[in-house]
Amino acid sequence: MAFEGLAARLQGTLTKIRGKGKVSEQDIKEMMREVRLALLEADVNFKVVKQFIASVKEKALGQEVMKSLTPGQQVIKVVNEELTTLMGSEQSKIAVASKAPTIVMMVGLQGAGKTTTTAKLANYLRKKHNRKPLLAACDVYRPAAIKQLETLGKQLDMPVFSLGDQVSPVEIAKQAVLKAKEEHHDYVILDTAGRLHIDESLMAELSEIKATVNPDEILLVVDSMTGQDAVNVAESFNEQLSITGAVLTKLDGDTRGGAAISIKAVTNTPIKFAGMGEKIDQLEPFYPDRMASRILG
Ligand code: GDP
Repeated sequence: MAFEGLAARLQGTLTKIRGKGKVSEQDIKEMMREVRLALLEADVNFKVVKQFIASVKEKALGQEVMKSLTPGQQVIKVVNEELTTLMGSEQSKIAVASKAPTIVMMVGLQGAGKTTTTAKLANYLRKKHNRKPLLAACDVYRPAAIKQLETLGKQLDMPVFSLGDQVSPVEIAKQAVLKAKEEHHDYVILDTAGRLHIDESLMAELSEIKATVNPDEILLVVDSMTGQDAVNVAESFNEQLSITGAVLTKLDGDTRGGAAISIKAVTNTPIKFAGMGEKIDQLEPFYPDRMASRILG
């Protein structure tokens, strides 16, 4: 299960302080040393850990005494609140353009789960928001990516726009948006190409698609199992494309959780959704507070 190690360590550490009727500065220092190690071990970015520790310390030491909680419980409350803030505070919703269609561009490395998430997102928008999305197959490089999206479209009984793999992705994106307008789709979701590693030609092409269709939302799909690397990937994509949000996939696996905890802080863009399995309905809005509670028990 995701976060298992981190949750166990943090809960172990916090248990020691929970019942305390009096918490000294030394207690907090010791506790924060353990929290720091637990976060680093879970692959949380070191700068993020440093800021987190500093801000918990400051708040825990400076907080007003609340009669309803023991001092130990108050410290835990601060940790919970700061962890929630770190992951984004509020649930961040998907964009809605003032004039349809809302254009969503999915980006990310190959294997992160882009194509799957494109279909999952379309399913989510139809089910929860009664939308009528058009999917567009702009990944002309990965063998079978177009076919994969078409198969998912059939499964969902949703149209997939494709021009095969001999037309440039920029042109496909442009035509897809025109088609969405003509056929009154309220969302058009562009499944773009990824590579195994970030490279200049990939970024140049994605930038060109962005400049051509002017998306309302650029969602970076990141594999939460890749830990620190997920955060580096997010930083690069954000520098080049100014992403508007992230989708963390494979949170159903045994990820240590570092990516989930670091991405918002490092890129200053919210995590909007979490992929919780391979099935088409296993996409959930990302709630920072629920995630923090899950980690802290
Ligand atoms: P792409 O190359 O980025 O388009 O990646 P794909 O959409 O083809 O996904 C790569 C693999 O990850 C596939 O086997 C998916 O079924 C799997 N996958 C995607 N999202 C999730 C998720 O949230 N949980 C799990 N367990 N697997 C996922």
